[in-house]
Amino acid sequence: MKKAILIKYGELSTKKDNINFFLTRLKSNILEALKGIDARVEYDLGRMFIYTDDFGKVLDKVKNIFGIHEINICYIIDSIDIDIVFKQVLGLVEEKEFKTFKVESKRSNKEIEYTSVGLSKMLGGYLLKNIPNIKVDVKNPELLINVEYRKNEVLVYSDKIKGLGGYPVGTLGKGILMLSGGIDSPVAGYLAIKRGVKIEAIYFEAPPHTSIEAKNKVISLARKLAKYNGEVVLHVVNFTEIQEEIYKNIPHEYLITIMRRMMYRISAIIAGRRNAKIIVNGESIGQVASQTLTSMSAINEVVKIPVIRPVACFDKLDIISIAKEIDTYETSILPYEDCCTIFVPKHPVINPLKGKCIEYETKIAYEDMIYKAVKNHEIIKVKEKEENIYGDLL
Ligand code: ATP
Ligand code: MG
Repeated sequence: MKKAILIKYGELSTKKDNINFFLTRLKSNILEALKGIDARVEYDLGRMFIYTDDFGKVLDKVKNIFGIHEINICYIIDSIDIDIVFKQVLGLVEEKEFKTFKVESKRSNKEIEYTSVGLSKMLGGYLLKNIPNIKVDVKNPELLINVEYRKNEVLVYSDKIKGLGGYPVGTLGKGILMLSGGIDSPVAGYLAIKRGVKIEAIYFEAPPHTSIEAKNKVISLARKLAKYNGEVVLHVVNFTEIQEEIYKNIPHEYLITIMRRMMYRISAIIAGRRNAKIIVNGESIGQVASQTLTSMSAINEVVKIPVIRPVACFDKLDIISIAKEIDTYETSILPYEDCCTIFVPKHPVINPLKGKCIEYETKIAYEDMIYKAVKNHEIIKVKEKEENIYGDLL
């Protein structure tokens, strides 16, 4: 009898025509996550199997991979002969401690002469006869024995681990995540990754107004996301000149609006260069002055690329609870300021006029500054837990 980790697809099974595209990617994401661990992956349209000697390490990685609905430790019996199967199941469950149980059978091999319900009843009866002091409880069993009769083999498993769901990362292409040091943007990134979007991140720094600690905080957040995304390519853009020019030349109530229009423009350019199809950010309707509908509209109009805001309609408390779940919260609440918080005006405009934005922007040579900022930006490849490797990708 072989032992393997069994993976169930959930929502992926609804992808009828192009399910293979999703499954190929899921397999390669799993292999990527398991680099350095001795493991082999096989799959068909219904199930994926990981064969390994290091179950603990593999489970630890696989539970963070999107596109997986459920994970089971599974035994594979190399026969569909009922007598052999029942005997082997008995051998497996005999060692467990339980008083009540239930058998659930699935039969993808329709050549087997019994129905699923019939098979469950027969195996249940066999176990009752051979193990003392146990009884069947169909509602709330201590031990649920799942038995799947396939073409040439039978799967047996009982413990299940819930997978993260979603789509395999990369199946929906790439997105640029505007990653600040706050609570919202890492959560927005996580939710986009969950829908199959491979994330690259962009961070606007403004030294000396922002500190190296603020930048390191963003790198730590990118590292937390790397657990789900695989390596995160982080684009660090120096925003100091643009920010100072805005501060000097533009009425302060419009500082944030114009600043954010600049961030959007730069994000869109880098998205284009990196073949990313969307910008993702942590804006949430009504949270601050720049996130009223009028503000979002005045800011959004400078780019054509779709801007996806996964937490747009979430309450802050719900965002915080996801941040805690994905372990970004404690990092996000560290006190280092990013460039927005330093230049916050006393009375930011709540309903900015698009005409005014355009008029004010003529006071600064923003195209040259944007060109320079993009040209000189730094790229950091952030891996889960490992050292950063600096490099120039563009
Ligand atoms: P967060 O909690 O994610 O920091 P926030 O509450 O600070 O968001 P804003 O400052 O209005 O809200 O920013 C809204 C979004 O714009 C952020 O969620 C993030 O996606 C993006 N953003 C803000 N500042 C930066 C920055 N310095 N670098 C990159 N993206 C940023
Ligand atoms: Mg926010």
